[in-house]
Amino acid sequence: MKFAGLQKLDLLNCPGRVSATVFTRGCNFRCPYCHNPSLVLPPTEAELEAQVDEEEIISYLDKRRGMIEAVAITGGEPTLHPEIEGFMKKVKEMGFFVKLDTNGTNPDFLKKLLKEGVVDYVAMDFKTAIEHYDRVFASSSAVEAFKASLKLLSSSSIDWEVRTTCVPSVVTKEDFPKIKEVMDSLGVKYKWYLQAFNPAVTLDESYSEELAYEQGFLEKLVSEYADEKCDIRIR
Ligand code: SF4
Repeated sequence: MKFAGLQKLDLLNCPGRVSATVFTRGCNFRCPYCHNPSLVLPPTEAELEAQVDEEEIISYLDKRRGMIEAVAITGGEPTLHPEIEGFMKKVKEMGFFVKLDTNGTNPDFLKKLLKEGVVDYVAMDFKTAIEHYDRVFASSSAVEAFKASLKLLSSSSIDWEVRTTCVPSVVTKEDFPKIKEVMDSLGVKYKWYLQAFNPAVTLDESYSEELAYEQGFLEKLVSEYADEKCDIRIR
């Protein structure tokens, strides 16, 4: 398959592991604050020409065995590409730790990836309160799919997290307790990362004007919500 890009060295995407990150093109959401609009909107000729072949990535990884420990797969939405499974299988067989970023709207495919054992870690977006997913232009079926993915992860044996990009107009102060309620209802321990909103580049340009939450507000959430089940942190 062809990828939209390869970040050859990444120290942030897989905490504690030196990784390479691959980017897939296309997404079924339109989060207005998306900081990767070029992966979501139709590609330009130049972007299509700059795509990276899977073989090139495999060859790069092969030469960096021992130095790179993990491969992070992000997008766009990687699960829109069924052929990503073959890529994940290859890198897993090469001995790399495989991390998948997803918006959680393809539970059947996620189930298959878990069953095949080609993913070690899943980072899934929990964008806002369930009833407000229209703010990221998600269809009702996408919301149901997200809920199914959440159940799937909560009963899986791999390590996983949910993460929320804290954009005030998308996830309001009233939405945070609703997210926690859903997470608590899963009945398992979970990791929840609050991600700072980066207004530098946004899919909807008007969002570059939006003010992020103050750090103090996020810290207060962490101190209020952290408990035996909820491992909540700011990223
Ligand atoms: S933030 Fe993620 S889910 Fe939302 S549009 Fe961008 S790539 Fe898609």
